[in-house]
Amino acid sequence: MKKYDYIIAGSGCAGLSLLYRILQEPILQHKSILVIDKDSKKTNDRTWCYWEKETGTFEAVVSAKWNSLAFLTSDFKKNLDLGSYTYKMIQGIDFYNFVLDSVKKFTNVTFVQENILSISSDENFGIVKTNLANYTSKIVFNSTSLFNPVITEKNSLLQHFKGWVIKTETAQFDTNVGRLMDFTISQEHGATFMYVLPTSKTEALIEYTLFTPKLIEKEAYDNALKKYIKEDLNIDKYSIKHQEFGVIPMSLANFKRTESNTIINIGTAGGFTKASSGYTFQFIQKNVSEIVLNLKNNQPILNKTTFKDRIYNWYDRTLIDVLLSNKLTGKEVFTRIFKKNSPEKILAFLGNESTIKEDFSIMKNLPILPFVTSGIRQLFIKR
Ligand SMILES: Cc1cc2nc3c(=O)[nH]c(=O)nc-3n(C[C@H](O)[C@H](O)[C@H](O)COP(=O)(O)OP(=O)(O)OC[C@H]3O[C@@H](n4cnc5c(N)ncnc54)[C@H](O)[C@@H]3O)c2cc1C
Repeated sequence: MKKYDYIIAGSGCAGLSLLYRILQEPILQHKSILVIDKDSKKTNDRTWCYWEKETGTFEAVVSAKWNSLAFLTSDFKKNLDLGSYTYKMIQGIDFYNFVLDSVKKFTNVTFVQENILSISSDENFGIVKTNLANYTSKIVFNSTSLFNPVITEKNSLLQHFKGWVIKTETAQFDTNVGRLMDFTISQEHGATFMYVLPTSKTEALIEYTLFTPKLIEKEAYDNALKKYIKEDLNIDKYSIKHQEFGVIPMSLANFKRTESNTIINIGTAGGFTKASSGYTFQFIQKNVSEIVLNLKNNQPILNKTTFKDRIYNWYDRTLIDVLLSNKLTGKEVFTRIFKKNSPEKILAFLGNESTIKEDFSIMKNLPILPFVTSGIRQLFIKR
């Protein structure tokens, strides 16, 4: 069985972010690394958006940026100046190519395209079995769903969305302002909004997004997009350049950060998808920075949750509980949050970067009873 220093099981956002960061470090870049994925990562399978204040590690592949985003609902429309934050977009394929190109010069990194069947560990090593071979390493970084908890209608909402990148014949979009959430559309299925990110005057990503327990009929996503483009954006002539579909669990279930001393879960598998919003990219970046720091200092990767992590996790679970138990609608919750608070404060809150004082000032705009009952329940539920 071939032995490596590290195995990266799954080369999506988290696996490749970690690989890139490891190879940036002179002290780590000579380690033997095996990267396993069943997919070749050659398609533009997703678009990532996230916000940050500074220049990020993957700035070179940022394809568009916004300093202003709009929130729309039936009773108000607000353009949100993001203050010190910038909202950024990265195309999946640009990210994959960027990392894979930068790795080419490292002969100590091996890629195999195989299906991982199991990951286990003994005291000192992680063992990965694929459809073709067995491999072992001092640490396995896992982003496959092999250890994911069971997702049910009781413990999770699904964030599901269909996005179209459309190209119009004439100038139709203002590239300075995206629409973060447009709740003016029908709420017949549950919390539903449109997300519009113009990348030029004639091109935009338009995403129909729902937070509901179940997926809807395939045609319903397309019909909603068609209707919105025609009736809300008043666009008649356009072509669809690209499409994406995604399902992200917004879950009360426990995604464990570590399986053993030698198996570390990263990305969605490690619980780095924010349960209340589905955003993951920026949380992956923070986590892989911490992992690389531990590796550099030869410290064990405990991947422990901090007190702040647990607080945010509790807020997220409280919100999911409120929505799952239908105490309030998603539209009502987000409307209340966006009506009274500055966008910078909201982004800090949604990015787990706010202070407890700021958290309280956001939460005071929400109705007390549903949040208190759900919050107390989530404090005592064993997961
Ligand atoms: C369409 C879409 C759009 C999204 N947009 C955003 C966004 O705008 N902002 C944001 O923050 N988040 C977004 N997300 C959520 C999240 O950022 C992504 O899902 C992100 O890719 C998660 O990274 P990951 O590494 O955990 O998982 P992935 O990127 O999915 O990587 C997991 C890898 O593991 C591989 N794998 C899985 N099982 C096996 C197996 N058994 N054997 C071998 N390989 C395996 C897969 O092929 C994949 O390459 C989006 C998700 C989707 C699906």
